[in-house]
Amino acid sequence: MTDLSRLPKVQHVVDAPELVRARRALGRRSVTELARRAIAECRQRVRAGEPAPDEREIVARVAQAADARLSSRLQRVINATGVVLHTNLGRAPLPAASLAQLGELGVGYLNLELDVELGRRVRRGAAAEATLAELVGAQAGLIVNNNAAAVLLSIGALAPGREVLVSRGELVEIGGGFRIPEILARSGAVLVEVGTTNRTRLEDYARAMSERTGLILRVHPSNFKVTGFSERPALAGLARLARSRGVPLVKDLGGGLIVELGSSVASGAALGAEPTVQRCLEDGADLVCFSLDKLFGGPQGGAVVGSDDLVAKLAGDPLARALRVGKLTLAALEPVLHAYTQGDLSAIVVHTLLRAPLERLVERVESWRAQLGARGRHTALVRTDAAVGGGTLAEAPLPSAALGLSCGPPDELASALRRACPPVLGRIAGEVLLLDARTVLPGEDELLLRAVQAVLPA
Ligand SMILES: *Cc1c(COP(=O)(O)O)cnc(C)c1O
Repeated sequence: MTDLSRLPKVQHVVDAPELVRARRALGRRSVTELARRAIAECRQRVRAGEPAPDEREIVARVAQAADARLSSRLQRVINATGVVLHTNLGRAPLPAASLAQLGELGVGYLNLELDVELGRRVRRGAAAEATLAELVGAQAGLIVNNNAAAVLLSIGALAPGREVLVSRGELVEIGGGFRIPEILARSGAVLVEVGTTNRTRLEDYARAMSERTGLILRVHPSNFKVTGFSERPALAGLARLARSRGVPLVKDLGGGLIVELGSSVASGAALGAEPTVQRCLEDGADLVCFSLDKLFGGPQGGAVVGSDDLVAKLAGDPLARALRVGKLTLAALEPVLHAYTQGDLSAIVVHTLLRAPLERLVERVESWRAQLGARGRHTALVRTDAAVGGGTLAEAPLPSAALGLSCGPPDELASALRRACPPVLGRIAGEVLLLDARTVLPGEDELLLRAVQAVLPA
């Protein structure tokens, strides 16, 4: 008997009693597929001269693959990392009104592309785009799938085959593979690098301009900062130059802040320095691109706002059709726009998280410790710096308070909390696992404490 013939039959593995949970959760068909793959892999190893693994080992491997599949399914998690806009955790949590709207509009048909009064077809998102433009004081707006799409469309529609000027200090990678030079190459434009990594002056732009120039792109460097001997022209100055040469200036802002964060935000000055969309327009940018799920606080989406003629050019480009948003995005977005028009920032979760006063967070952590009773002796109140995240305001720490857990290796504590239901995600600082109160949503305290209780010795 060869080692190959000693491998178990697929159905035999699938029927193993150890896989009852996997069969129930994933269905027989998926478990069969996982078993088939595991056995095929073993067959290859046997052919390569390794001994055949026994059936129990193969079943264990299938169970492991099933667990991995289950834990990567979407589920709610508690964000105790202190990073408000955490891309891996879905960035901005949606306002309750958005969820209500999704519930209302998601179950049936809706007037996505129809003016119900006139019975005529209209552009999807037209109402939201008009409101957004009004909010930021722009002539027009366009909503697409994300900010990467907004930038791609702006360049692709306005400067195909032409030169796009970008400062060398702004040729950045934002994260998640969004790299300015690569987006530019894909959009069909030709990158012209201006100035140097640390210093770019207005004269550098002026010298780089020619009849081949299609647009000037100005990028918020987001998670990257050049300090020391550095310089770049003010946006307003660059806008004057662009206008005098009849070349559009596109600003990739990223964050999408449309209200001054100002002093009401915990850390004051540093966050106050983040430019708003309005400010970029006032400074003379012809188009401003931003994410709707970062500081704007809505569902994943990207917006372009600016002058009528340029926005119309973008909307009419074939790429716009490929990048258009879905009905669920628009349904979730409209209540966010409504909250802004009503000046009701308390309805926007991201803003409530950013504005929570430090004293309240300290009180909350103290109350967690008290509720942990004797187990609280393994914890401490730790003053921390939370972060805005999402590639924006990387340099601006948000003063915060965390529950520090110190009993055993922090990575083991972290992995035990990730296995809680719902999983709790913290961050490790030295020998301590920190659970930052700034990003734990109201109403999640009890679930968080239950998970913590289970990992701390009595
Ligand atoms: C986040 C960001 C992007 C990418 O936006 P997505 O909405 O994630 O596509 C692009 N540019 C800047 C400056 C950003 O901060």
